[in-house]
Amino acid sequence: MSQGFATRAVHDGYDCQGQGGGAASVPIYQSAAFDMVTADRGDALAAGKIEGFSYSRLANPTVKVLEDRLAGLEGGKGAVAMASGMAAVSSALLCAAEGGGRLIAPVDLYGTSVDAMKTFFPNFGIETDFVKDINDLDQVESLIQDGTRAIFTESVSNPSTAIADIPGLADLAHRHGVALIIDNTVPTPYLFNPIDFGADIVVHSTTKGVTGHGNALGGVVVDAGRFDWGNGRFPQMSQPELIISDERHGSMVSFLDAFGDLAFLHRVHTKYLHTFGAVMSPFTAYLQLTGLETMAQRVAAQVKTAEILARHLLTIPQVKGVNYSGIPEGRHQGDTDLQDRLAADLLPKGVGTILSFTVQGGYDQVKRIVDSVHLMAYMPNIGDCRTLIVDPARITHREVPGPFRLSAGVGDDLIRISVGLENPDDLMADLDQAFATAYRDQG
Ligand SMILES: *Cc1c(COP(=O)(O)O)cnc(C)c1O
Repeated sequence: MSQGFATRAVHDGYDCQGQGGGAASVPIYQSAAFDMVTADRGDALAAGKIEGFSYSRLANPTVKVLEDRLAGLEGGKGAVAMASGMAAVSSALLCAAEGGGRLIAPVDLYGTSVDAMKTFFPNFGIETDFVKDINDLDQVESLIQDGTRAIFTESVSNPSTAIADIPGLADLAHRHGVALIIDNTVPTPYLFNPIDFGADIVVHSTTKGVTGHGNALGGVVVDAGRFDWGNGRFPQMSQPELIISDERHGSMVSFLDAFGDLAFLHRVHTKYLHTFGAVMSPFTAYLQLTGLETMAQRVAAQVKTAEILARHLLTIPQVKGVNYSGIPEGRHQGDTDLQDRLAADLLPKGVGTILSFTVQGGYDQVKRIVDSVHLMAYMPNIGDCRTLIVDPARITHREVPGPFRLSAGVGDDLIRISVGLENPDDLMADLDQAFATAYRDQG
């Protein structure tokens, strides 16, 4: 039987005697290159015939421990770490759709992801068909065409906390030979593993709840290792590639030939990471490993506080509505019966550590509230152990076109909170005094 999550979070991917010379915490291999020892070994390493380290843009021992640990915690067969969440999102989407493919995605995504798909990827010949509600499976299915390569969504969206119907989307995608790529940043691998419910590829901004201390940017692509990339929709996977072949012996292979079910992960690593070079540094991997060792305990505590804050916000007269799908009163997105079912079936430990709410008086009052909090910090980040507050329409979702923003529920009267590890009473007191200040003399 496999070990529990909290156990794997502190042990997986690292053998302290074997790899670490006895060091309790994973050593930082702050080295650009590694001794390849003999010409024969160098040749085998360069050909990818043996595992090992030669140059840190290709692989690094500290980063490798983080990759192995996150692959295990997400239930995947392998992972590639990158310099940021956007490096992971962009690499995964481009790797799926490269060569003129199409994507399907909802409008309520992280702002930079929407901007990439709507305004930037088209310059590379990759178009996205957007839907208002990704759980409208009939509409999603109607958009699948010959060129469609992948459906992309956040498992729990930021800031609405709407839950995606991953089992329904996986069924639909797989009936058409399309891949399902999930951004699982908001719930973290502790609350939810999309691969268990049919996702093919999972990406994270590990900057957020995985690291949990707001001190290092990072991202990861995890591959479930079971999608058929040879089904005819992904010509890039079957074309021979010099970089993984043995030209001297006249043998040219494709990613599918060389890596089978793991063709996607290897292509992300060998083409996207090596070419664009958005590698994670060894020091960042060390900070992220240290952070994720306490992910289970941190996230469990933060979820409890998020529920307390969501219920408290519901009692404040100037709050118009609370979006937090962890409680029934906080489920407003799409089909609420479906949200109830998904919350119970997919996310029994909680939906995440962010919530959002709308306030009376619009943007003027939003400004007064964010300017009046003392304990909460006004910062565009989530998953930190400190509580953060932000106005998404101006900050995190600024680059999202107006109609998309509004249909994702991101109006000028919206405030998002990323709940940290402070005592709930102190957070409620901070909100109460901020509301009192903001609405003083406002009638
Ligand atoms: C923050 C975030 C990203 C981008 O991650 P970076 O590490 O900032 O590049 C992508 N998706 C979601 C859901 C996020 O919250």
